[in-house]
Amino acid sequence: MLINKYLGIAPKADIVLIKRLCERLKGGRFLHVNSTRAGGGVAEILHRMIPLLQDLGIDARWEVIEGDKRFFDITKKIHNALQGFDIHLTEQMWNYYLEVNRQNASRLDLDAEVIFIHDPQPAPLIEFRKNTEDFWVWRCHIDLSNPKKEVCDYLMKFYKKYDAAVFSVSNFTRGEKSLEFIIPPSIDPLSDKNIELSEEEIEKLLNPFDLPLDRPIILQVSRFDRFKDPTGVIKAYRMVKRYNDCVLVLAGSPATDDPESEEVLKEVQEQAADDPDIYILMLPPYSDRVINALQRVATVVLQKSIKEGFGLTVSEAMWKGKPVIGGAVGGIPLQIIHRVTGFLVHTIEGAAFRIRQLLNNPELIERMGEAGREHVRENFLITRQIRDYLCIWYYRREGMKSLIEV
Ligand code: UDP
Repeated sequence: MLINKYLGIAPKADIVLIKRLCERLKGGRFLHVNSTRAGGGVAEILHRMIPLLQDLGIDARWEVIEGDKRFFDITKKIHNALQGFDIHLTEQMWNYYLEVNRQNASRLDLDAEVIFIHDPQPAPLIEFRKNTEDFWVWRCHIDLSNPKKEVCDYLMKFYKKYDAAVFSVSNFTRGEKSLEFIIPPSIDPLSDKNIELSEEEIEKLLNPFDLPLDRPIILQVSRFDRFKDPTGVIKAYRMVKRYNDCVLVLAGSPATDDPESEEVLKEVQEQAADDPDIYILMLPPYSDRVINALQRVATVVLQKSIKEGFGLTVSEAMWKGKPVIGGAVGGIPLQIIHRVTGFLVHTIEGAAFRIRQLLNNPELIERMGEAGREHVRENFLITRQIRDYLCIWYYRREGMKSLIEV
């Protein structure tokens, strides 16, 4: 059984509960729908979770909606507005958004007992639901703490039709439903992204990039997206550089559902142009082992987001024993316990100050790294997330009393 490989790594109680729940849910149909197979946290988790569930006897499937550039331009606008940007969508845009979802609904097999629809792109699929016995859950990964009202109100008409919703952080909930669950995402300690690597393998993986591995490395791994603040990272690095030797590595790759990334990448390249110590690595999709190696050679890891759903990269780095400096937004404060597993920051200056504090104090780097790994083990491994999803399902089927008895 695949799940047994997690014994000795993940908390045992989670594994036991997963097995018990799967015995009872065996053969049940569990469908996930999102908008990309590569790039970003949602795809990252589904790639790992679906085979594990299948191996546990669950009939788990993953479908991806299709759309053209116009559709993804619109959904990126929706995404940006939900994360607080002042953006207006025209009636035609909304209609096209709905129409593409209608086409996907007729193309996709949406028949299952439990259906998780991830994020806003496929949210209107609920309009084309055929069977009211199914359990439709909107799984929101984005930062809904301060959305643009007009766009949020429009999406509410879809939201209200779902049977339940799952958010990563409590202050993203809408208070509009009786069933709103808080389930933070997770990382897989056995995936290529997080598995232990030997020194030789790390060297081999990073060889093509010619990084100066004998100098302190500040790393941020993120899609080139304004909410990840890559230009803020460069500014913070420049402040540090006046006093401390270090290099900056910004690693990213394009997500097929993000039309803005090229523009942001260009801005970043322009800003970094004259500095040979800034490495901008444009990685192809599925560069998981390279990212793993980068996180392992980093001295300090940044996730200086200004909006963030959860920020898987934070847990990924903490699992590798790295202190993480992160923007105090979205799911990052769940992961970074300030001054214990890393530092939460609100400004570029704050980030620079904390980078210097760490670079000047190797003992602190070590201590925070160890605390971070333990925090991830307890809270942010994939076994915990599978456990939580199965609990929702079992609760829906059998009620709370039965769930407690499992
Ligand atoms: N990632 C990747 N390649 C990249 C950039 C990011 O594989 O070039 C991965 C990263 O390691 C993490 C996920 O994509 O697993 C990003 O998830 P996160 O929650 O940090 O941000 P999102 O992109 O979902 O906003």
